[in-house]
Amino acid sequence: MSNNNNSPLAYSGANGFSYSHHPYGARLSRPQGPILLQDTNLIESISHFDRERIPERVVHAKGGGARFEFELTDSLSDITFAAPYQTVGYKCPGMIRVSTVGGESGTPDTARDPRGFSFKFYTEWGNHDWVFNNTPIFFIRDGNKFPHFIHTQKRNPQTHLNNGEDSNMFWDYLVQNPESIHQITYMFGPRGTPASWASMNAYSGHTFKMINEQGDLTYVQFHVLSDTGFETLTSVEASKLSGEKPDYNFDKLFKQLKNGEKLTYSCYVQTMTPKQAEEFRYSVNDLTKVWPHAQFPLRKFGKITLTENIDNYFAEIEQIAFSPSNTCIPGIEPSNDNVLQTRLYSYPDTQRHRLGANFTQLPINRPRNLNLNNESPNAPFYDAPMKCPYAATNFQRDGPMQMYNQGSLPNYISNQANAKIQFKDLTTSQLYANKFKGLVLDVDEQTYIQQQEAERTRHENAIDAKLNDYYTINGISPLDFEQPRALYEKVFDDSSRRAFIENVVAHASNAGNDELKLRVAQYFGLLNQDLGAKLALGLGVQWVPVDLEGYANAIGISSPF
Ligand code: NDP
Repeated sequence: MSNNNNSPLAYSGANGFSYSHHPYGARLSRPQGPILLQDTNLIESISHFDRERIPERVVHAKGGGARFEFELTDSLSDITFAAPYQTVGYKCPGMIRVSTVGGESGTPDTARDPRGFSFKFYTEWGNHDWVFNNTPIFFIRDGNKFPHFIHTQKRNPQTHLNNGEDSNMFWDYLVQNPESIHQITYMFGPRGTPASWASMNAYSGHTFKMINEQGDLTYVQFHVLSDTGFETLTSVEASKLSGEKPDYNFDKLFKQLKNGEKLTYSCYVQTMTPKQAEEFRYSVNDLTKVWPHAQFPLRKFGKITLTENIDNYFAEIEQIAFSPSNTCIPGIEPSNDNVLQTRLYSYPDTQRHRLGANFTQLPINRPRNLNLNNESPNAPFYDAPMKCPYAATNFQRDGPMQMYNQGSLPNYISNQANAKIQFKDLTTSQLYANKFKGLVLDVDEQTYIQQQEAERTRHENAIDAKLNDYYTINGISPLDFEQPRALYEKVFDDSSRRAFIENVVAHASNAGNDELKLRVAQYFGLLNQDLGAKLALGLGVQWVPVDLEGYANAIGISSPF
């Protein structure tokens, strides 16, 4: 909010009445004190100050962002009926938030870590989120592993040292869970320390299902590629900045936007038909794998332009709440990726804890088509109403910090005049819409849908079987090493390979004991034996080569299935 009409601002209490004294002045019983309990100005100010902090995010605590504009450059209407993806030229405003994962709110921006990269689109039909990372893969493919994994990447429960200073549990977890190796190879390569948020990519990593008007399924993965390419820092530059300029990426983006730089990204999907998914070497539900570009080329659909800086960090960045469940608007469904399914629950749950049950009513999170009773034409960006094709409503009422309690509208499904609500279809396919309305379908519709469901069940069983078939060597999957091996051997150049070895050695040197250091070398040795030997040398341990079976036996891995 800014003082738009330039009238003088009066210092006032939270009740709005102006306060005629200087804010510093206390009300005292005698000239020397003590302070009177009736000094509401002081009590209100101090007690509000005591409550300024809300719980920071358990992961992705350190984050910054900006406003953007999205434009649909190419329609995806052949594969989805999702409203924002239909009409070329469609534009909407949005917010990005970019974050490190493991560190707390005050930790350095340039830490070696993946970056969360989230987008909230304020569309006429409601809010749509992409909750992506700057890496196309992740450490795990089982949602249950997430708390274990994250604990090991954060501070030691006894010493409170972070993983840079004591990397014992960091590596202890990773070597026991070798599906992590693709993400770790990516992260210890050049892209683990991005130079700038504007020169960095975002990837859904997860597979989503797009559904068109005919009910056809297409699997997709999203890629948001910076138009400047992916710029990175060396390890030395990143470490130096961690000490000298811990808010380096925040500062850089703020200044770029303030100076009017044009910062743009192009948006793509990779697509896969159900048949291709059945024939694919890996499971589409495996978050540790990419879809090779040669087989699944990028299809452009949009453009994102960062437009301006925020006005208020707390209101626009700390209070913004993203969820992959908001990716799944009508026309887009989640895949059966186990980690995605877990996130669909976990994100709104953590926001209820962090911001409260009515977090979607906070101005930055509020869908702009909600049927509100206090819209202001002069509202700031993050509280602006929007011209909508229809006003939305629901039956969620009351609770702490309720701001838009939907006035006199009934809080149940009513059939009375003036109180009826519509069930608005976002598809022209009546069949598809009826299925979700819970309406009784006629016999032909039922038969058609049963056939469609039977085919889907067969297909999903075929996809699930792929993941189950991974673990052929004592709980280890040889498939887990193919893509990171290609990354290390073919995508990295000589200098990236050298830097990779230096980065792993520097970090794993703090792993505490020689047994674990050797295991780290053997873990990477499963990608490339020469790499393993070089790491052992750097870590100062005797190199003992081991094959997949020997590794699995030594670690005692057991399949989660
Ligand atoms: P390609 O040769 O077609 O793709 C390689 C991709 O790697 C590039 O397009 C670029 O992705 C990305 N890349 C370039 N330099 C680096 C780097 N230093 N660190 C990490 N990624 C980099 O081959 P494939 O599609 O068959 O993939 C080969 C390997 O590349 C994969 O196993 C995976 O590790 C990695 N990769 C693949 C991606 C994919 O979606 N297929 C995406 C990113 C990495 P971009 O254009 O997205 O910048």
